[in-house]
Amino acid sequence: MEVIQTLDLTKHYRSSAFKTNNIPALEKVSLSVEQGEIFGLLGPNGAGKTTFVKLILSIVHPTSGSATVLGYPLGQRVLKEYCGYLPENHRYPAFLTAENTLIFFGRLNGLPESTLKEKAHSLLETVGLKDWAKVKTKKFSKGMLQRLGLAQALINDPKILFLDEPTDGVDPIGRKEIRDLLLNLKTQGTTIFLNSHLLSEVEMICDRVAILNKGKVVRTGTIAELTTQKLAYVVQLSSPITNEIRERLQQTILPIEYKDTSLIVSLHDKSELNTVIDILRAGGIGIESMNQQKTSLEDYFIQIMKGENGQ
Ligand code: ADP
Repeated sequence: MEVIQTLDLTKHYRSSAFKTNNIPALEKVSLSVEQGEIFGLLGPNGAGKTTFVKLILSIVHPTSGSATVLGYPLGQRVLKEYCGYLPENHRYPAFLTAENTLIFFGRLNGLPESTLKEKAHSLLETVGLKDWAKVKTKKFSKGMLQRLGLAQALINDPKILFLDEPTDGVDPIGRKEIRDLLLNLKTQGTTIFLNSHLLSEVEMICDRVAILNKGKVVRTGTIAELTTQKLAYVVQLSSPITNEIRERLQQTILPIEYKDTSLIVSLHDKSELNTVIDILRAGGIGIESMNQQKTSLEDYFIQIMKGENGQ
């Protein structure tokens, strides 16, 4: 089931500072996000990622196009109950303790007064801030503020969680904890929409991603689809190949990259791999492993961006 569906969603800002009423931020974006998935929106600064989330949450309004969230058209009040949002660079009143910050947001969300304190404490425990409940947020590091932000976004037990750069400023252990927390929420059926420029994080956690550039979607797919681009295999050998085997491999006319004790074979068809294996084994070379070559999401992203920007 799709929980977010957009059709040609477009946003042009007006700006009196720049004396223009036409700053294009998003152009005809059509995306769908399935229930229970972790969806990543990637793109360079200014690509339109935050604008997309703000449109979905009705913080800004579309210039044209349409969208539904949980089947409701944008702007329906009830959606506020179903969505949680961790904005980028959020600020909480410095004089509030972590506990009181969450109680404050709980009240804004209309939670019953009797449940607020317990809810705040259980969320602080979830995000690893249990011992900081009574400490004012002005004493918090960037990473701690991100965790508190995450707790704030979860205060209404949202069906869809929107996170703008959630692991920004968080150390590697904290990042792993946040990842585990998000994966746990996913198993409970929460849909997670993530804006991030930390591509290795995205690669570890997202089911599907869309890449935005200058307001337009340039690619969408699962992580596997985007990082497994060509039919190429890395074959790890037990010993270096001899000249004789090399000559026989060259006769296959397959593009092969030769390394010391491995080969990278590019194929047109998977069956061609058998020909390579037969030649190697006939020549007495053992095969230790064979894996399809992958690019990292980061490499793929850079490649796409270079292509899009004509570099
Ligand atoms: P991202 O989140 O990918 O960095 P944004 O959605 O913040 O991108 O911004 C997309 C474009 O819209 C940028 O060119 C940005 O300068 C512009 N923009 C964002 N918010 C506003 C605003 N409130 N007024 C005018 N222009 C804006």
